[in-house]
Amino acid sequence: MPPSPPLPSRYIGRFAPTPSGFLHFGSLIAALASFLDARAAGGRWLVRMEDLDPPREVPGAQDAILRTLENHGLHWDGPVVRQSERHEAYEAVVQQLLASGQAYACTCSRKTLQDYPGRYPGFCRNAQHAPSDAAIRLRVPDREYGFIDRLQGEYRQHLGREVGDFVIRRRDGLYAYQLAVVLDDAWQGVTDIVRGADLLDSTPRQLYLQELLGLPQPRYLHLPLIVQPDGQKLGKRYRSPPLSPDQAGAALLRALRALGQQPPSALAGAPAEVILSWAIAHWNAEHIAPVAALAEAELR
Ligand code: GLU
Ligand code: ZN
Repeated sequence: MPPSPPLPSRYIGRFAPTPSGFLHFGSLIAALASFLDARAAGGRWLVRMEDLDPPREVPGAQDAILRTLENHGLHWDGPVVRQSERHEAYEAVVQQLLASGQAYACTCSRKTLQDYPGRYPGFCRNAQHAPSDAAIRLRVPDREYGFIDRLQGEYRQHLGREVGDFVIRRRDGLYAYQLAVVLDDAWQGVTDIVRGADLLDSTPRQLYLQELLGLPQPRYLHLPLIVQPDGQKLGKRYRSPPLSPDQAGAALLRALRALGQQPPSALAGAPAEVILSWAIAHWNAEHIAPVAALAEAELR
């Protein structure tokens, strides 16, 4: 077997919160894991505000998210990029995809699509609707897209059968997450994406967009969804522990344990920066369990 290639020395990671709410324990885990993976590799760590959907934005959430990151010692590199400032770049690609016939206008009403949950049935594929007052959908190829996730292993999805042509610009003019995330990760030179497993089934769509637009494919690590001891989504029965500045160290230690790391008990009560120095030096992504249920004790 040929030797595996050396790890590239250039690493750019990112945390990309949506300001539709405040940071909770689950998002702290995503922020922390992407931060540690970047810092342990000597890489850069960026923060990008995914503020694509003003109606769903909670006033004050952007500032609160950034303050919470700082309170937890998670200091980012460079300026925070806001997707609300990137509309021109998204629109240029929408126009390019419309012009090449890869994308098309869809006028299906919500009511029509209600009967087809999951996969868009392609009603407007050949309809030649005008793109104004219409959603713009990307034509997907009738094939599988797959990749090897650093934690979850191989993941494959048949875009034609399982997803169907997907929206890149909504009828109300808002740009879709799938489009914006791919363009921004490439534009910011992101090499490594560490994020929650809830986005695993979005990744094949993103791989297709990267291929179509000639963009590099980053490495992916999808973190386990953190669930309650009873397997339910966090926050259903147990309240997700609030993140307060004076509890930052304790929250970091809980998050580290949820990520399979083993901080020594001597770190209890230590400031966030001290805990993070230890965590960067000892970071081992292979210790993360692909599925993680929080222990009862972690929720107190
Ligand atoms: N903005 C997305 C979220 O908060 C994350 C996007 C990503 O990491 O790709 O769920
Ligand atoms: Zn349609």
